[in-house]
Amino acid sequence: MRKTIVAGNWKMNKTNAEAVETLKKLAELTKDIDGVEIVIGAPFTALSDAVKAVEGSKIKIAAQNMNPNEKGAFTGEISPLMLNAIGVKYVILGHSERREYYGETNEFINSKVKTALAHDLTPILCVGEKLEDREANKTEAVVEDHVKGGLKDLTKEEAKKVVIAYEPVWAIGTGKTASPEQAQEVHKFIRNLLTDMYGEEIANEITIQYGGSMKPENAKELMSQKDIDGGLVGGASLEADSFAKVVKAGL
Ligand code: PGA
Repeated sequence: MRKTIVAGNWKMNKTNAEAVETLKKLAELTKDIDGVEIVIGAPFTALSDAVKAVEGSKIKIAAQNMNPNEKGAFTGEISPLMLNAIGVKYVILGHSERREYYGETNEFINSKVKTALAHDLTPILCVGEKLEDREANKTEAVVEDHVKGGLKDLTKEEAKKVVIAYEPVWAIGTGKTASPEQAQEVHKFIRNLLTDMYGEEIANEITIQYGGSMKPENAKELMSQKDIDGGLVGGASLEADSFAKVVKAGL
């Protein structure tokens, strides 16, 4: 019923040439895969060549951020029209690093989610608690705030098109993964929240990825949980070999 989507998030890594080389390898390694949508979030400078490098393969390219406006005086920003024009299909929004280092709020992220949907870009909305939130038993409150804030005022039809990535911040880049049970518990909580917001049918169609130190060794167990429908993968997406293994674990 819902799609399994495994997305790589390259963050601020890879020159243009490095991106193209990795994508060509990945396209070859994943050419027989059916049943998992494969996405790579490349840096802005590599997006155009990245789209060309995956032509004829099943890999889709994502941007890692986007401005909510179509054009204008926003120095240093990239608009949805620019992403559309080069064939980008997804956009990662509200990543914890953007919330933390660039002060992105739910409201700002929500405006980007709406803009992405209006321009046929699939938003991957990142949500997740910090260690201090978890220790203070605030995981559910924080996740609820991120989900409701990010999806505010979306219609059911729009909500259906959003991908949610649950990424506990304490597990990102730390090597500490949430246990499959810990992750499933929060994914289930998100699914229930989506059911309250949009009804069961829509909630069951929304892909919820797990992110935070996902790698070939733990991907299968995580993605075999009932409400975990793929992954958002940082470190382990940088090498084609390891990312292809994570993708295959989603089959
Ligand atoms: P990680 O990053 O896999 O390196 O923990 C995940 C992410 O930040 O999306």
